[in-house]
Amino acid sequence: MRAVVYRGVNDLRLETVPVPRIGAHELLVKVAVCGVCPTDIKKIHFGTVPPPRIFGHETAGTIVKIGGGNSSLVTRHSSLKVGDRVALHHHVPCLDCHYCRHHAFAQCETYKRTGITAGFEPAGGGYAEYVRVLPFVLPGVVKIPAKNTFEEGAMLEPVNTVLKAVKRLELLRGDTVLVAGQGPIGLMFTNILQLQGIKVLATDLLASRLKLAKKFGAHRAVLANQLSTINHQPAFDAAIIAVPSDAAVTQALQLVRGAGKVLLFAHTKRTEVRSQKSEVRKRSSGHQPSTLNYQLDLASICLDEKDLIGSYSSDFTLQREVARLVFSRRLDVRPLITHRFPLAETAAAVALATHPTESSLKIVVNVSG
Ligand SMILES: [Zn+2]
Ligand SMILES: [Zn+2]
Repeated sequence: MRAVVYRGVNDLRLETVPVPRIGAHELLVKVAVCGVCPTDIKKIHFGTVPPPRIFGHETAGTIVKIGGGNSSLVTRHSSLKVGDRVALHHHVPCLDCHYCRHHAFAQCETYKRTGITAGFEPAGGGYAEYVRVLPFVLPGVVKIPAKNTFEEGAMLEPVNTVLKAVKRLELLRGDTVLVAGQGPIGLMFTNILQLQGIKVLATDLLASRLKLAKKFGAHRAVLANQLSTINHQPAFDAAIIAVPSDAAVTQALQLVRGAGKVLLFAHTKRTEVRSQKSEVRKRSSGHQPSTLNYQLDLASICLDEKDLIGSYSSDFTLQREVARLVFSRRLDVRPLITHRFPLAETAAAVALATHPTESSLKIVVNVSG
């Protein structure tokens, strides 16, 4: 089969690889669509995991084979059969460990394992014609209703990450929230918040995105660099930072009310924190030390009781709610998908997602029609 293999930093190659073999209680899924996600892009650009791998984890397709020669598979969560159109989740928590009991699924060891592969070290595998779905992620398989598209199925995972973050804010109807960044993720935040009766002030650097933000339910939309001229007083109950900008965090901390929350959604790149000793050693050896240059007024946390929180990845327990939201089209994800690339052009899809244009939002790879 054809697959796009990650061979090193910024090196994606279309290759022929064996169709994955499956064992008992496993699925072979013919991939229809796979979304391009920033977390994969980061791995491709920074080489944070060793090659070779086949990435792509926002996957939807059709079950073509069930392990053990069966035509159906009944699990505790669902009954699946050959021919079902499905959306996949590559991470599923154990629901039993210390972290899961604390509802911190993204920290669960089982959750951190990737249960979908097209070959090599499991990495999602969606940029390939077929994927093997391992038994421990079967609870994450969701059937796509006949009226919905594979593309809508592929959006369940990103929508889940957004809904999970919104829940962490514990907002009340009528609250006002700043959403910084109106890319596909920011627009989903805007839309979901609006559906919950929350007033959104959306910001972005691109004017075209502000228009979209209005369409997606923003109460107001302003250019990011003009926010300070409009808002001087703390006026927000919460702020969501859907761009990796430290300045946006500083500004948001000033603009949320006392006891407000600032949620980081896009700060996924670690900064190396060195001890003072090693700094001195580095300096004396002529190396340029990498320093943390973010300053935080801790009194805003203590005195003003503002919370700085993060949210990463999806919440398994929200899966049904997310499926209902997307498949009912109450949250219509279709206008978010602006570009489709064939499998052979996955590298171009990743390049566009890395450098979005005025007209690009969510980008997907159409693996098979
Ligand atoms: Zn993703
Ligand atoms: Zn767990």
